[in-house]
Amino acid sequence: MQLPEPSLFTPHSASDSQQHLIPLLNINETEVDRQMHICNACRYCEGFCAVFPAMTRRLDFSKADIHYLANLCHNCGACLHACQYAEPHEFAVNVPQAMAKVRLNTYVEYAWPAPLGKLYERNGLTLSLALAGALALFLLLTLLVKGTLFPGQLAGDFYAIFPHNTLALMFGGAFGFAVMALAIGVTRFWRAISPSDAAAVASSAAIAEASGAVLTLKYLDGGHGQGCNNANDHFTLWRRRFHHFTFYGFMLCLASTSLATLYHYVLDLQAPYPVLSLPVLLGTAGGIGLLVGPAGLLLLNYRRNPAHGDQAQAPMDRGFILLLFLISLSGLALLAWRDSGAMAMLLAIHLGLVMAFFLTMPYGKFAHGIFRSAALLKHAIEKRQPDRLKLGND
Ligand code: SF4
Ligand code: SF4
Repeated sequence: MQLPEPSLFTPHSASDSQQHLIPLLNINETEVDRQMHICNACRYCEGFCAVFPAMTRRLDFSKADIHYLANLCHNCGACLHACQYAEPHEFAVNVPQAMAKVRLNTYVEYAWPAPLGKLYERNGLTLSLALAGALALFLLLTLLVKGTLFPGQLAGDFYAIFPHNTLALMFGGAFGFAVMALAIGVTRFWRAISPSDAAAVASSAAIAEASGAVLTLKYLDGGHGQGCNNANDHFTLWRRRFHHFTFYGFMLCLASTSLATLYHYVLDLQAPYPVLSLPVLLGTAGGIGLLVGPAGLLLLNYRRNPAHGDQAQAPMDRGFILLLFLISLSGLALLAWRDSGAMAMLLAIHLGLVMAFFLTMPYGKFAHGIFRSAALLKHAIEKRQPDRLKLGND
């Protein structure tokens, strides 16, 4: 295959009259642009994931295209391990790394409120401060209310320490803000990557396809069904499986909390609920998923080839995974010892961890699932539209 010399792989060109209309690419976006031009000439990885078919519909890559492609990439590593132009080749192609750096830029750029987007860049510190602050808050509140962290056995009655309405107000407010911030952020992202014409409207088939890709994590199969590359050329499906444990564990915990709220306000059934009640069963199953998934992901993360992704984001990735694990561990411990004298302290720790999670949700790793889902939806819409490059050749 005849590829142009590396000097030709420069940011996309535009006439002088067009220059002022094109948003300038930053250094990370310029690097994706360079690599996508190489990949577009090579196309060896076309069947690996959604990124390459989306790439082949373009000859040039605008800032919005690059943001879209970066969030479509699942960082599976397959294209790096297959690449004949990866280092030590002078082209130094490393698509997962280049995409990961741009992904972080997109989280910052589309964050709401905009000044808080900077928290992504210092996520390790943000997470640590939120965690320390939230833990201190709930331990102090327990001390203030009960005068001690060990007020004796309370028969699993959490509301003897924190009234239900107080908790609902605090956590409902923090969660509501997180959902709103993420929704505004991803709407900004969607508007930037999608044309405003009617063709961008999603059909039910496109929504079904994108939902399937999200729920099955289709693009963590490496394109051949054998999974991601993690430490080396060996393929593994464990990254996908541990993501499933984490995602479905989280959803079960959410279902448990929502059901318990329904019990409280609609059915007038007050906690603590029996071990075999639906909220407790859902919460326990979700909690186990949120132990297994994050533990596995953390292990894989530490074993991952450092060339995959962006090492500067390791504190954000690991901090988020660890926080999920600790939330689950403290929740299960609270269930196990809810009738003991340690309940108040365990409750304060669990609430502090959950509050830290809610506060950092819109400015940390959680965002990757939301932005990637939007990119997958755009891909499902786009592939149903005529390819203007092929039309041009007819
Ligand atoms: S990642 Fe490498 S092998 Fe794959 S399409 Fe790009 S240049 Fe070709
Ligand atoms: S790392 Fe995986 S998901 Fe990302 S572009 Fe390469 S093959 Fe596609």
